[in-house]
Amino acid sequence: MLEIKNLYVSIEKNEILKDFSLSIKPGEVHALMGTNGTGKSTLVKSIAGHFECNITQGKMKYNNKNLLELDPNERANEGIFLSFQNPVEIEGVNNSYFLKTALNAKRAYNKEDELDGLEFLKQLKTKLKEFGLDNSLLKRDLNAGFSGGEKKRNELIQIMMLSPDLILLDEIDSGLDIDAIKTVAEVINSMLDGKRSLLMITHYDRLLQLIKPDFVHVIKDGKIAQSGDHTLAEELDEKGFEGLGLHNDKNN
Ligand code: ADP
Ligand code: MG
Repeated sequence: MLEIKNLYVSIEKNEILKDFSLSIKPGEVHALMGTNGTGKSTLVKSIAGHFECNITQGKMKYNNKNLLELDPNERANEGIFLSFQNPVEIEGVNNSYFLKTALNAKRAYNKEDELDGLEFLKQLKTKLKEFGLDNSLLKRDLNAGFSGGEKKRNELIQIMMLSPDLILLDEIDSGLDIDAIKTVAEVINSMLDGKRSLLMITHYDRLLQLIKPDFVHVIKDGKIAQSGDHTLAEELDEKGFEGLGLHNDKNN
């Protein structure tokens, strides 16, 4: 599904990812870990097509299409979704309207009928009810004044409605209480149907106990320094990055 080969990414003339490679097959769940500032967010932002990330070398393919030739909106419509580490607050844009517009843009791109307001609300209500989420966030402006937890819950609502094929989660569990982390796991696990793929960035083993990864990777000095199964995350939880020699030399 996703094939990244020898990727070099710089931000503001600093080379962050160097010779980075990763491949994700349909249905696979990958976790990405690493000390602060190693380029985890840079990686997922590069996949989503964030303007800050300057790809200088390497290849990135998604379903055999050259991602580097696709605009961020095309990547989203092709089924890539990034849940931001810090979701942006946009005052004046109604959250529900934003979500309906995004969903209908994706449907139109994929030659499906657009949903009218009534049908959209019906689907939204069904999905929210399934996970015990309320719709109060939908009435407000996009992320405006949302607490950290509310922003992450709003990202989950977007995932449920847009139903992406490749889900990228950038520290969706950071700052969440245990009940909220359980809700994240319930929603994400319900999406994992053996075809969708997931790449999640996290610092905590707790999320990985609830959403079992097939692979755990640790990034260091711009590329994956070690890969393993979920036991690698448990080991990191116990010994820390430094204990395993997986801390970033340059930043820490
Ligand atoms: P991580 O998510 O692993 O903590 P990031 O990918 O966010 O790390 O950042 C990698 C490096 O890129 C850090 O040194 C960070 O300071 C730098 N960086 C990220 N965004 C910017 C930016 N907009 N301008 C300058 N440097 C940036
Ligand atoms: Mg980050």
